[in-house]
Amino acid sequence: MSSPVPHTVLLAAPRSFCAGVERAIEIVEHALAQRGRPVYVRKQIVHNAHVVADLEARGAVFVDELDEVPTGATVVFSAHGVSPAVRSAAGRRALRVIDATCPLVTKVHAEARRFTARGSTVLLIGHAGHEEVDGTLGEAPGRMILVPDVAAARTVEVPDPERVAYLTQTTLAVDETSEIVDVLRARFPALRGPASDDICYATTNRQQALSAVAGEADLVLVVGSANSSNSVRLVEIARRGGTPAYLIEDAGDIRPEWLAGVTTVGLTAGASAPPRLVEEVVTALGPVTVLERETATESIRFTLPAAVRPGSRPR
Ligand code: SF4
Repeated sequence: MSSPVPHTVLLAAPRSFCAGVERAIEIVEHALAQRGRPVYVRKQIVHNAHVVADLEARGAVFVDELDEVPTGATVVFSAHGVSPAVRSAAGRRALRVIDATCPLVTKVHAEARRFTARGSTVLLIGHAGHEEVDGTLGEAPGRMILVPDVAAARTVEVPDPERVAYLTQTTLAVDETSEIVDVLRARFPALRGPASDDICYATTNRQQALSAVAGEADLVLVVGSANSSNSVRLVEIARRGGTPAYLIEDAGDIRPEWLAGVTTVGLTAGASAPPRLVEEVVTALGPVTVLERETATESIRFTLPAAVRPGSRPR
């Protein structure tokens, strides 16, 4: 690079893969090993272009909808989850389904069913068009309303203000979401919420870790794909804190002009971005001093579904 290189890289920790992403990737790998290629996957298994390209090269076939999957074939549902309508469609097509929905997304679906079964309207805080949001809204069409931002929270109307609950997408910014919940609570004092936060541990941890390095950095780089919600939130959080920040798919996206006058780079990666991409960014920035700032340790692992556990027989 022609511009002066930075002297220090502050690595946020935790960063990169979460337990739900690791499980989803392992599910496709096991399915390929046990059933052979092709294994169909509905939507991107996780929102990362490198992960998708790698699995594609090994025999996964990514499709947008189930009608692209041959009758009777194996199909994996992505980590973001699906609506009951998609599950029914898979049953009608006699597809052999392996579900890679993150258990923390499944929890939000269960909450949606619980609240709406009691007659509550559920206000789902999340981003329109995101696959996770589409899947969750599909649990109770007509009884859930999407609330994308504070402006919508100020105007949304419900049939019965005494019976209203909120849930959230798992990968939102913690600070923005609590602002939206505050607005909803002020308008609907009877508002119920989830027993524990829907924003998942991995999203929360990555945001806190980034905040710990962004204040000391001249520039923040976030490794992740543009359709990765939690990665985009990391960029926004750094910028809201006053530090220039960019989302990069990999080291090849770094522009020399971003580094002009920069001595310290804060570096992190969204929950769907492979760790090796972070290492490649450090190499591309080098030679640099690398300091890791760890704000939490993560030991969560999710078990694989029975359909792909080692020793199981394909169904
Ligand atoms: S970001 Fe959170 S909800 Fe999404 S896959 Fe990872 S652990 Fe699950």
